[in-house]
Amino acid sequence: MGSIDISESLNAFAENKLAALKQRNLLRTLAETERLGPVEVRRGGKRLISYSCNDYLNLSQHPKIKAAAIEATEKHGAGSGASRLVTGNHPLYAVLEEKLAALKGADAACVFGSGYLANTGIIPALIGPDDMVCIDELSHACIYAGGRLTAGAVHMFRHNDAGHLAEILKAHRADHPRALIVTDGVFSMDGDLAPLASLSDVAAEHDTWLMTDDAHGIGVVGGGRGSSFVNGGANGSGGRVPLQMGTLSKAIGAYGGYLCASKPVIDLIRTRCRTLIYSTALPPGTVAAAIAALDLIRDDPEYAALPLKKAKDFTAMLGLADAESPIVPIVLGDTQRTLDASKTLEDEGFLVIAIRPPTVPDGTARLRVTFTAAHDDDDIARLAERIKPLIIDAP
Ligand SMILES: *Cc1c(COP(=O)(O)O)cnc(C)c1O
Repeated sequence: MGSIDISESLNAFAENKLAALKQRNLLRTLAETERLGPVEVRRGGKRLISYSCNDYLNLSQHPKIKAAAIEATEKHGAGSGASRLVTGNHPLYAVLEEKLAALKGADAACVFGSGYLANTGIIPALIGPDDMVCIDELSHACIYAGGRLTAGAVHMFRHNDAGHLAEILKAHRADHPRALIVTDGVFSMDGDLAPLASLSDVAAEHDTWLMTDDAHGIGVVGGGRGSSFVNGGANGSGGRVPLQMGTLSKAIGAYGGYLCASKPVIDLIRTRCRTLIYSTALPPGTVAAAIAALDLIRDDPEYAALPLKKAKDFTAMLGLADAESPIVPIVLGDTQRTLDASKTLEDEGFLVIAIRPPTVPDGTARLRVTFTAAHDDDDIARLAERIKPLIIDAP
C-alpha cells in the first residue's frame, strides 16, 4: 500500500470546520489582553476599561496577594512537581482547605487544579452508570461534561424551575440507586441566583443529593460566603447544600477549584476523584494567593459587597431588573448585532465581550457586563449611557 499524507485530510477537516463556523459568526479567536491594573487593560494597542473580567474583587492585582504568591514561590518553587497524592501536596494545601471549609460552613474541603477539573472529577466520583444526574439547563459547560462522564442518565431541568425538577425526579428517581442535582449557584452568563431553598426541598423529598457550583458566588454574594448564604441563608443555608463546589479563579483572584462537604465525602473524593489523582497539584504560589485572598474576604465583607452594589447601581440606571450578582447580561439576541455592539463600546474605551452560542442558547447572544470593586462610579454611569441606545434599538 502506498503511504497516505495523513496531515492533508486532517488540515482539510480543520479548514472546513473553521469555514463553517466563520459563516455562522461563531469563529473564536484569542485577543492578546494585558492587565494594566485593577480594571484597565491594553488590547490591540488601546487602553480599555474592562467590564469583562471575573476578577470581581481585583484580587489578582492586589499587592498583598501578589506578595504572598511571590513569597511562596521563593520558598517552595514555581511548580508542585506531582499530583497531590504523590509528592505535590505541599503544606499550603492544608491551610487553604481549612480556610475554605470555615468560610463555607463545611466540615472539610478539597482543592483541585481548576473548577473544570473539579466538576469533571466530583460528579463521576459520586454518580455511576446506574445513577442519575439532574442539571439546570443553563449550568456551566463543565457540569455537563461531568454529567456525561458518569455514564449514567443525565436529565436537564428548565432554568431555575424546581417544579420541573420535581417532575423529572417523580418520573425517574425510583429507577436509580443514587441521584444528584447540580446547578450553578450564581449563573455565569445570566447573573441570577439558583432558588436553593426550593431546590433543596425537592432534593430532600426525592432523596437526591444537591450540589452547587459557586464559581461566581464565592467572594461576592452572601457576605462573600457564596450563594448558600444569601439573605442570611434564606436562599438555602450551607447545611442544606451538602456539596458546595466553586473556583479560586474568579473573585479569589488566583486559580484552582474546590469542593466543600462533609468529612467522609471529602475523604472519598480524595481517594476516588480521577481529576485530582491524575493531575498535577497547583503551584505553591497559586495556593498562597488563594489563602491571602480568603483572609481578605473574611476580614473585609464590606469590600466583598462592592461588586454587587455597583452592578445594582448599573441596573437601576438602565431600568433593568435589580442585579443579583456582579454579572449583568444585556441580551441582544442576534450574534452579529452583539458583536457590533461590543465593537462600538470598544471604540469608546470599554471592553464588554460579546457572548455567543454555544456558550449561551441560540438567539440569546448578549453583552455580559461584570462589575468589580474597583470600577469607578462615574465610569459606570458613562457605560450605562453608551449601552442605553444599544438596548433600545434591539429587536
Ligand atoms: C469558570 C467556571 C468554571 C470553571 O472554573 P475554572 O477554575 O475556570 O476552570 C466552572 N463553573 C462555572 C459556573 C464557571 O463560571
